Order: sequence, then structure tokens, then C-alpha cells
Amino acid sequence: MPAQIIDGKRIAQQIRSGLAQKILEMLAQGKTRPGLAVVLVGDNPASKLYVSMKQKACKEVGIYSEEHRLPAEVTQDQLLALIDELNGDPKIHGILVQLPLPAHLDEEEVIMRIHPDKDVDGFNPVNVGKMCIGSRAYLPCTPAGIMKLIDTINYDPAGKKAVVIGRSNIVGKPIAQLLLQRDATVTICHSKTKDLVAECRQADILVAAVGQPEMVKGDWVKPGAVVIDVGINRRDGKTVGDVEFDSVNEVAGWITPVPGGVGPMTIAMLLTNTVVAADK
Ligand code: NDP
Repeated sequence: MPAQIIDGKRIAQQIRSGLAQKILEMLAQGKTRPGLAVVLVGDNPASKLYVSMKQKACKEVGIYSEEHRLPAEVTQDQLLALIDELNGDPKIHGILVQLPLPAHLDEEEVIMRIHPDKDVDGFNPVNVGKMCIGSRAYLPCTPAGIMKLIDTINYDPAGKKAVVIGRSNIVGKPIAQLLLQRDATVTICHSKTKDLVAECRQADILVAAVGQPEMVKGDWVKPGAVVIDVGINRRDGKTVGDVEFDSVNEVAGWITPVPGGVGPMTIAMLLTNTVVAADK
């Protein structure tokens, strides 16, 4: 029997409708409209696409958004000066610097400069630290979206074995933390893992955040597992995930499609964080 599809697009749309309603209520109470500043450096086509999708989503739910485009040659000091300005701007509740930045810029310093209260991406070490100790924080958007998807299917991670492939700061490490906080027993795999397939076969929850098109095959997956495909890769003119959908669909209990799974949730969680920041 094929797996049940976890429809991230539909769930994200429900979250967006709820946010639109929430913003109307905030305005009726005399609160300010939530505002998001998006900073784009250079003209990486993928980054431009992500920024335009985020701005469109802001507009749809009623978040004020402004885009700051800087040339690829911008200096670190100029970029930090813009962040300082946005940190002090009362119209702006969330600041997002689209990554990756050009190689001459110090990404870590830029992220650290965003005030933790406006760090709606959840990348500032203050928020990362709070997340790790289970304290209130802006959760990074993609992992937060994945947890929402798991909750939507009423799947309780407690006592389950979760395997995360990938250990990036934006997906792999934080999703492992969030699953751990929900009492899963978590294994993090990466490019030096000895027997990746054997690890994956034990997973009740398998999260693939690798960036390798269709790497995870059906015979890597435990029957009935929840498979979360974070990957966004281009292959033969199509967008595919890190999971080979057709073969895994035959074995898994639940699966997120690509596109239409984790991707829309990432944007929905960014909007959620921005509204929470404004409502503080
Ligand atoms: P990174 O490139 O930062 O990390 C990839 C991770 O995968 C690394 O930890 C790497 O290991 C590991 N890895 C690479 N190859 C292998 C392999 N053959 N076997 C085991 N592990 C491997 O990627 P991101 O975490 O930023 O993104 C992962 C994917 O998710 C990408 O396709 C990206 O486009 C997508 N993405 C999707 C989002 C969404 O909203 N849907 C949001 C963010 C990312 P090591 O550390 O040892 O190098």
C-alpha cells in the first residue's frame, strides 16, 4: 500500500490563513502591522527566487515587507550598518538575511548582529542556545515546519528512533534537537557515517537533509516509517528531493512530497515567527 502523503502545501496554507486572521485582530486592537525586512546580497538566482516567494507570502497574509538589495561587492561594514539600522527600525519586527552570502562576507558575524528579538530565522546563537535548552526561542523555520508536519499526522516521536541525514546548522542539527526534545532517540548521520543504509533502516522517523538528488531509496526505509524529505535539487529540469519518491512511497507509512512538502512550511514558519515578534 502506498504511503500517506503529508501535504505541506495544504497545511502551510492553513497556517497562512490563521496568520492573516491574527493580523486583522492585532490591527483591530491597535497593534502595529508585523514587518519583515529581507536583505539580499548579490544576484544568486535561487536566492532571488526564495526572496520573491517570501515577499509574496508576506503580502498575502498582510505582513509589511521591504527588500534591501545590495550589490555582491558590498563590504562587511556596509552590510552590518544596514542590520544596525533595521535593528532600530520600529516598523521592522523580523530581519532575514538571505543565505548564502558572497564568500568575502563573514556570515557568522552578520547573523550575530541581528538582534535576537528580530531573528525570525532563528539562526542567531542566542536563539540557537535557547532552542537547545528547550527555552522559548524563535525556532529555525525549516525544522519548526517539519515538527508541525509530524504533529499534523498525530505522530508522537516519544520513544521512537529518529535518524537525521545531514548536520547543517540550518536543518540537520536543529531538527535533531527538536526531535530529541520530543523524546525521540536521535541519530545524526553525515558524509563520514560508516553504514548509512543500516542506520536509515532502523528509523521510525527518517529526515533527509542532504542535498543529494533521490539518494534515499525504498530499501533504506523501515516499513511504515515517517519519511521527511527536506532536499530541493534540480535533476533533468525537475525539482526533486533527497528521497527517491516512487520506491520509498511503497514502503513508508507517511512521506512528504517535493515540491509541496517541507518547502511551503519553511515560509509559513517564517511568517509565524514575524507575527509572534510583532505581537510581543
Ligand atoms: P548542507 O550542504 O549544509 O548539508 C548537507 C549535509 O548532508 C552535510 O551534513 C553533509 O555531511 C551531509 N551529506 C552530504 N552528502 C552525504 C552523503 N552522501 N551521505 C551522508 N551525508 C551526506 O545542506 P542543507 O542542510 O543546507 O540542505 C540540505 C538540503 O535541504 C538541500 O537540498 C537544500 O536545498 C534543502 N533545503 C530545503 C529547505 C526547505 O525549505 N525545504 C530549507 C533548507 C535546505 P558533512 O557534514 O559530513 O559534509
